[in-house]
Amino acid sequence: MATLHLAARAFLRRGLRQNLDHAFAEGARAACGTVGRLPDVRPAYGTRSFQASAAAQADAPNVTAQERPASSSEQVLLHCDWMNRQLWYDQLRAAGVPVTWPDDVLDWAAVRYAVGWNFTPAVLGKMPSLRAIASLGAGVDHAMRPGLIPPGVDIVRIVDPLMAQRMATWVLWAVINFQRKMDLYGRAQAERRWDKKIENLKPWDNGEVRVGIMGFGAMGAATAALLRAAGYDVAAWARTPRPASPPPAAADAAAGASGAAGVEDVPVFAGRGQLRQFVERTDVLVCLLPLTPETQGILSGELLSWLPRGSAVINAARGRHLDEQALVTALDEGRLGGAVLDVFSTEPLPPDSPLWSHPRVRITPHVSSITDVPNAVAQIADNYRRLVAGVPLINVADKAAGY
Ligand code: NDP
Repeated sequence: MATLHLAARAFLRRGLRQNLDHAFAEGARAACGTVGRLPDVRPAYGTRSFQASAAAQADAPNVTAQERPASSSEQVLLHCDWMNRQLWYDQLRAAGVPVTWPDDVLDWAAVRYAVGWNFTPAVLGKMPSLRAIASLGAGVDHAMRPGLIPPGVDIVRIVDPLMAQRMATWVLWAVINFQRKMDLYGRAQAERRWDKKIENLKPWDNGEVRVGIMGFGAMGAATAALLRAAGYDVAAWARTPRPASPPPAAADAAAGASGAAGVEDVPVFAGRGQLRQFVERTDVLVCLLPLTPETQGILSGELLSWLPRGSAVINAARGRHLDEQALVTALDEGRLGGAVLDVFSTEPLPPDSPLWSHPRVRITPHVSSITDVPNAVAQIADNYRRLVAGVPLINVADKAAGY
């Protein structure tokens, strides 16, 4: 009886949504086609994710956008409470992924693919046949909590050059905001004050600004490329050493002297052993790391104390990378010159947070690189077709590494 009731409810909802499905079908087909015309901001040598994509792509049989699920009864769970969740639902359906809201799932035991954010143990516990979870964003920290995802279930994420370009552009703005003292100009404007003493007619030029990017993956490498092209003195920090990287000291000197665009000559420091050396050569520290047990709290009071006096911190990764109290203390004591923050340990940032009104802190509400729905839908649909066809998925996160 209960099953019949659920089936009837699902049928009614489907009916109501049918017109929407149809309306979105054309739009989504066109939108999915935008992936091909995106500017390619990938570094010359691939990141872990891009290499993984390429390898999986080579294995893939003729998995085309026209294919439909193997079984008409197949249901894919959509677990999402975002404000644009209906757009996700409509575009995924239009792309051929039979997503279903939790209330409409007819047979939890048959669900093999789940799409969403912040899955709970209660929901995951209902799906014994689950094979893969698709994150709605680039980060997978929400799915990597210990014991949450059963062994044998892949976690796939979004790797999108457009998102990387969005992030790189936001970071470029954040660097310029600090470097060129834009907050002081903003205050002068608010007071109708023509103040040419803010930079004393001597700007701090790009080649003199040492930017250190923590994380050299999809986001970090695209950001390094854009900053490098704009003439900044860029270095990066990653987990695994790059065999092609010159020794940091030599590369640092070379990068400082070179005005060339690209990231081939960006020195990549690696691992905890080279972290302090990397931070000590950094005027603007940019965090683009995934949140893992190894990186949580990495922007600690101790790390901030390694930065040269007057440096800035830019965090667009996750709030829990940063010790916010230590940041405020370092700013108040004048050891740090500024911070630009897009992410926070508690989101939305509570109204009583001292960060809101700090004169040296600039805040944006977790918008540095929002997921592009059409591009993400194309990838999620591609992985769905791969799962149905039994071929390797793309952009699979490394559960052992946590990202
Ligand atoms: P990738 O997986 O492509 O890159 C991660 C990078 O971090 C790699 O270079 C990796 O090193 C490095 N890294 C991981 N762990 C460590 C460690 N313990 N020590 C040193 N380096 C480490 O991720 P993305 O670039 O796609 O995304 C990064 C993060 O950005 C996401 O996880 C998400 O949290 C955040 N993000 C924020 C957004 C926003 O709007 N604010 C939007 C999108 C993403 P290696 O190269 O050696 O593997």
